[in-house]
Amino acid sequence: MDSKRKAIIKSSVRSSIEKLISQARKAYTSDNPERSKRYIRMAFDLLKKHKTKLPEELRNSFCRKCHLVWIPDKTATVSYDRRNNCLRVRCICGFSKRL
Ligand SMILES: [Zn+2]
Repeated sequence: MDSKRKAIIKSSVRSSIEKLISQARKAYTSDNPERSKRYIRMAFDLLKKHKTKLPEELRNSFCRKCHLVWIPDKTATVSYDRRNNCLRVRCICGFSKRL
């Protein structure tokens, strides 16, 4: 496969992941957390299949453990981690990650 084609695939994978995440957000806020998780799972599968690197704002928009979309003050809390001198996001499932 030539690199031009690869680039096209990558950018289309990324835009479908973006779409899936925004749909997951919408589903979650319209009281459909199960559907929301399904969207994130689909996004996650695409990510693994194509080994695409996502920009930080997308990587930090869902939980890789429970596939929940992160909505500040709803499904995730962001706090300052004094010990490690960084910001930390914590999902309601207990998973936490440095920002
Ligand atoms: Zn989680």
